[in-house]
Amino acid sequence: MPPEATATVETLPDVVRDPTLPDRVTIYEVGPRDGLQNEQALVPLATKAAFVRRLLEAGLPVVEATSLVHPRWVPQLADAADLVAALLADLGDRARDLPVLVPNERGLERALELGLRHVAVFGSATETFARRNLNRGLDEQFAMFAPTVARAREAGLEVRAYVSMCFGDPWEGRVPVAQVVEVGTRLFDLGASQLSLGDTIGVGTAGHVTALLGAFHEAGLPVERLAVHFHDTYGQALANAMAALRCGVTTFDASAGGLGGCPYARSATGNLATEDLVWLLTGLGVEHGVDLARLVETSVWMAGELGRPSPSAVVRALGAGAGTPG
Ligand code: MG
Repeated sequence: MPPEATATVETLPDVVRDPTLPDRVTIYEVGPRDGLQNEQALVPLATKAAFVRRLLEAGLPVVEATSLVHPRWVPQLADAADLVAALLADLGDRARDLPVLVPNERGLERALELGLRHVAVFGSATETFARRNLNRGLDEQFAMFAPTVARAREAGLEVRAYVSMCFGDPWEGRVPVAQVVEVGTRLFDLGASQLSLGDTIGVGTAGHVTALLGAFHEAGLPVERLAVHFHDTYGQALANAMAALRCGVTTFDASAGGLGGCPYARSATGNLATEDLVWLLTGLGVEHGVDLARLVETSVWMAGELGRPSPSAVVRALGAGAGTPG
């Protein structure tokens, strides 16, 4: 590419504030866990630790580090406990605030042994996905999560509950809004501190987002305790994020560089890229605290480690300048 080709690339959008939107949001970075879990490549532990550190240095306030799952289930995260130990050695006590996924009580046990303060459980809004992913029925999953959530809360931990397949399920198709609200309410009733509503296969559209968030509001669940987790399979993740922002959501999941294909959809495009979200929020004048240039540098570096280009439009637009100051 000739050098002048990058000269017209803007490094930040113009800011035009929309006063009807929240002033500030929290970006919950899922790249090291949800992203790497769904990439083909196995990433060395030192690279994962450097990735988490670089994300924190780019200003991301919450970085989900890994999943304390049995190594046989997710080979990409088989080094989870060693990674947490490395992060504790590198970052000190701050590493204890990095959320980790715990699939069950055994995972929580390990999190407690490591002195971690923030865990997440992974539930399903549908019967089929609960059976495939958890080997439990939709109702049975609550019995499985109950002791984990209760024990974590007793120990003073924050507990996020993911609700997957909120907008559609590859086996069941349409997922009724009322069913998602019921699952979410039951997870709240177990003691979850936050719900992350996941569009796991990326089939949601903006009106559906508004309807689902409206139904949670009707059910009396405060929007402050809801997060949204969008996938860009059909290019709708940012439109859906905008719809959620208009509903007052202030926690957005995103994955640096759009890491993580979707194992349940025929697409290489997975999680909403953090850079794309940051560009949107910056343009809207919504504070997020992330240094976009540093984040892009990190994603360009990680794309090199994985041996594949980032699917993020913003990383592609700015990536040519990454690694150089400014
Ligand atoms: Mg995801």
